[in-house]
Amino acid sequence: MLRIPFHKPLVLGKEISLIARILAERQISGDGHFTKACAGFLEERFHIQKVLMTPSCTGALEMAAWLCGLQTGNEVIMPSFTFVSTANAVVRSGATPVFVDVRPDTLNIDEKLIEQAVTPRTRAIIPVHYAGVACEIAPINEIAERHGLYVIEDAAQSIDSFYKEGALGSMGHLGAYSFHDTKNVTCGEGGALCINHPDLLGRAEIIRDKGTNRKEFFRGEVDKYHWVDVGSSYVPSEILCAFLYAQLEQIDAITARRRAIYEFYRSHLKPLEEEGSLILPTIPQHCRSNYHTFFVLLSDRMTRDGLISHLRAQGIGAAFHYVPLHTSPMGRKFGYEEGDLPLTENLSERLLRLPLYKLKVL
Ligand SMILES: *Cc1c(COP(=O)(O)O)cnc(C)c1O
Repeated sequence: MLRIPFHKPLVLGKEISLIARILAERQISGDGHFTKACAGFLEERFHIQKVLMTPSCTGALEMAAWLCGLQTGNEVIMPSFTFVSTANAVVRSGATPVFVDVRPDTLNIDEKLIEQAVTPRTRAIIPVHYAGVACEIAPINEIAERHGLYVIEDAAQSIDSFYKEGALGSMGHLGAYSFHDTKNVTCGEGGALCINHPDLLGRAEIIRDKGTNRKEFFRGEVDKYHWVDVGSSYVPSEILCAFLYAQLEQIDAITARRRAIYEFYRSHLKPLEEEGSLILPTIPQHCRSNYHTFFVLLSDRMTRDGLISHLRAQGIGAAFHYVPLHTSPMGRKFGYEEGDLPLTENLSERLLRLPLYKLKVL
């Protein structure tokens, strides 16, 4: 057993009392009081036109791919340095992921490399805001506008993070949050789709609710609901949303506590950066982080792996990630090979993450 494991999910204590209300009221399926409360909270606080709660960020990304009409023959630009769900959402729609290298400072997609990856087949860009720090979303939106592309923000790690005045998730046509238990705010498994373009909303509600217009029915806009389109089931239960709401209410305290841990690491590791042993993470001036991840970059893979073993021997769970998607077995099926994205490959070998979690709100 590690003395300090790499991760422990956040449980505040109040979750259980909100769930108890759900049980008492026998309102357990989705889109009840707490589903609406969570969506309303996110819309208001982060200025998102419409939020639809989902059972996962993976589900939200799948819905986004669907809403953009992705199909066989389309290409979607994204980083290779990301979690598999970013690419899966695209691949299962029949489209092809086109991987672009990252910036060395934030490890986010390098916006300067995006335009040269655009072809007549490109349909969308999926910027992933890594570690809670924004991609250069304004220039990315400009490129998308120039070429008539959708922007889907993978903001899985980035609730309560900002680019200038804009909340991450509110700046692309669509955005996706995760409430998986590894994320800052959690309900175990959960997510949300942010819809920032009014034309996408109607179909989103239908896809999410089994291809029916049940939403319109509940709003009293139609007298019965029908099967109107192809859909699926992306509505989370009220139990999940009750759990989540207890945490959303505490989001300021959660971010503040994570910031304190992050700054503690930074100040204590600063001397090691000054002597050239490691590189600390960067938060650009115009970005506000939610402190999702604290990572350092070591000089090479051997040093990184050695340090992970050393920390484990001291009872501290350090971790690495990601195996770049383009060098994974699935990525190779799209014709990629080692050496295609040099920075992504190099940085992923040198990256080490330290534990960063809070057990309860202070
Ligand atoms: C966690 C994560 C996801 C998937 O989130 P789930 O809610 O587990 O489906 C997708 N993309 C990124 C970048 C993530 O970190």
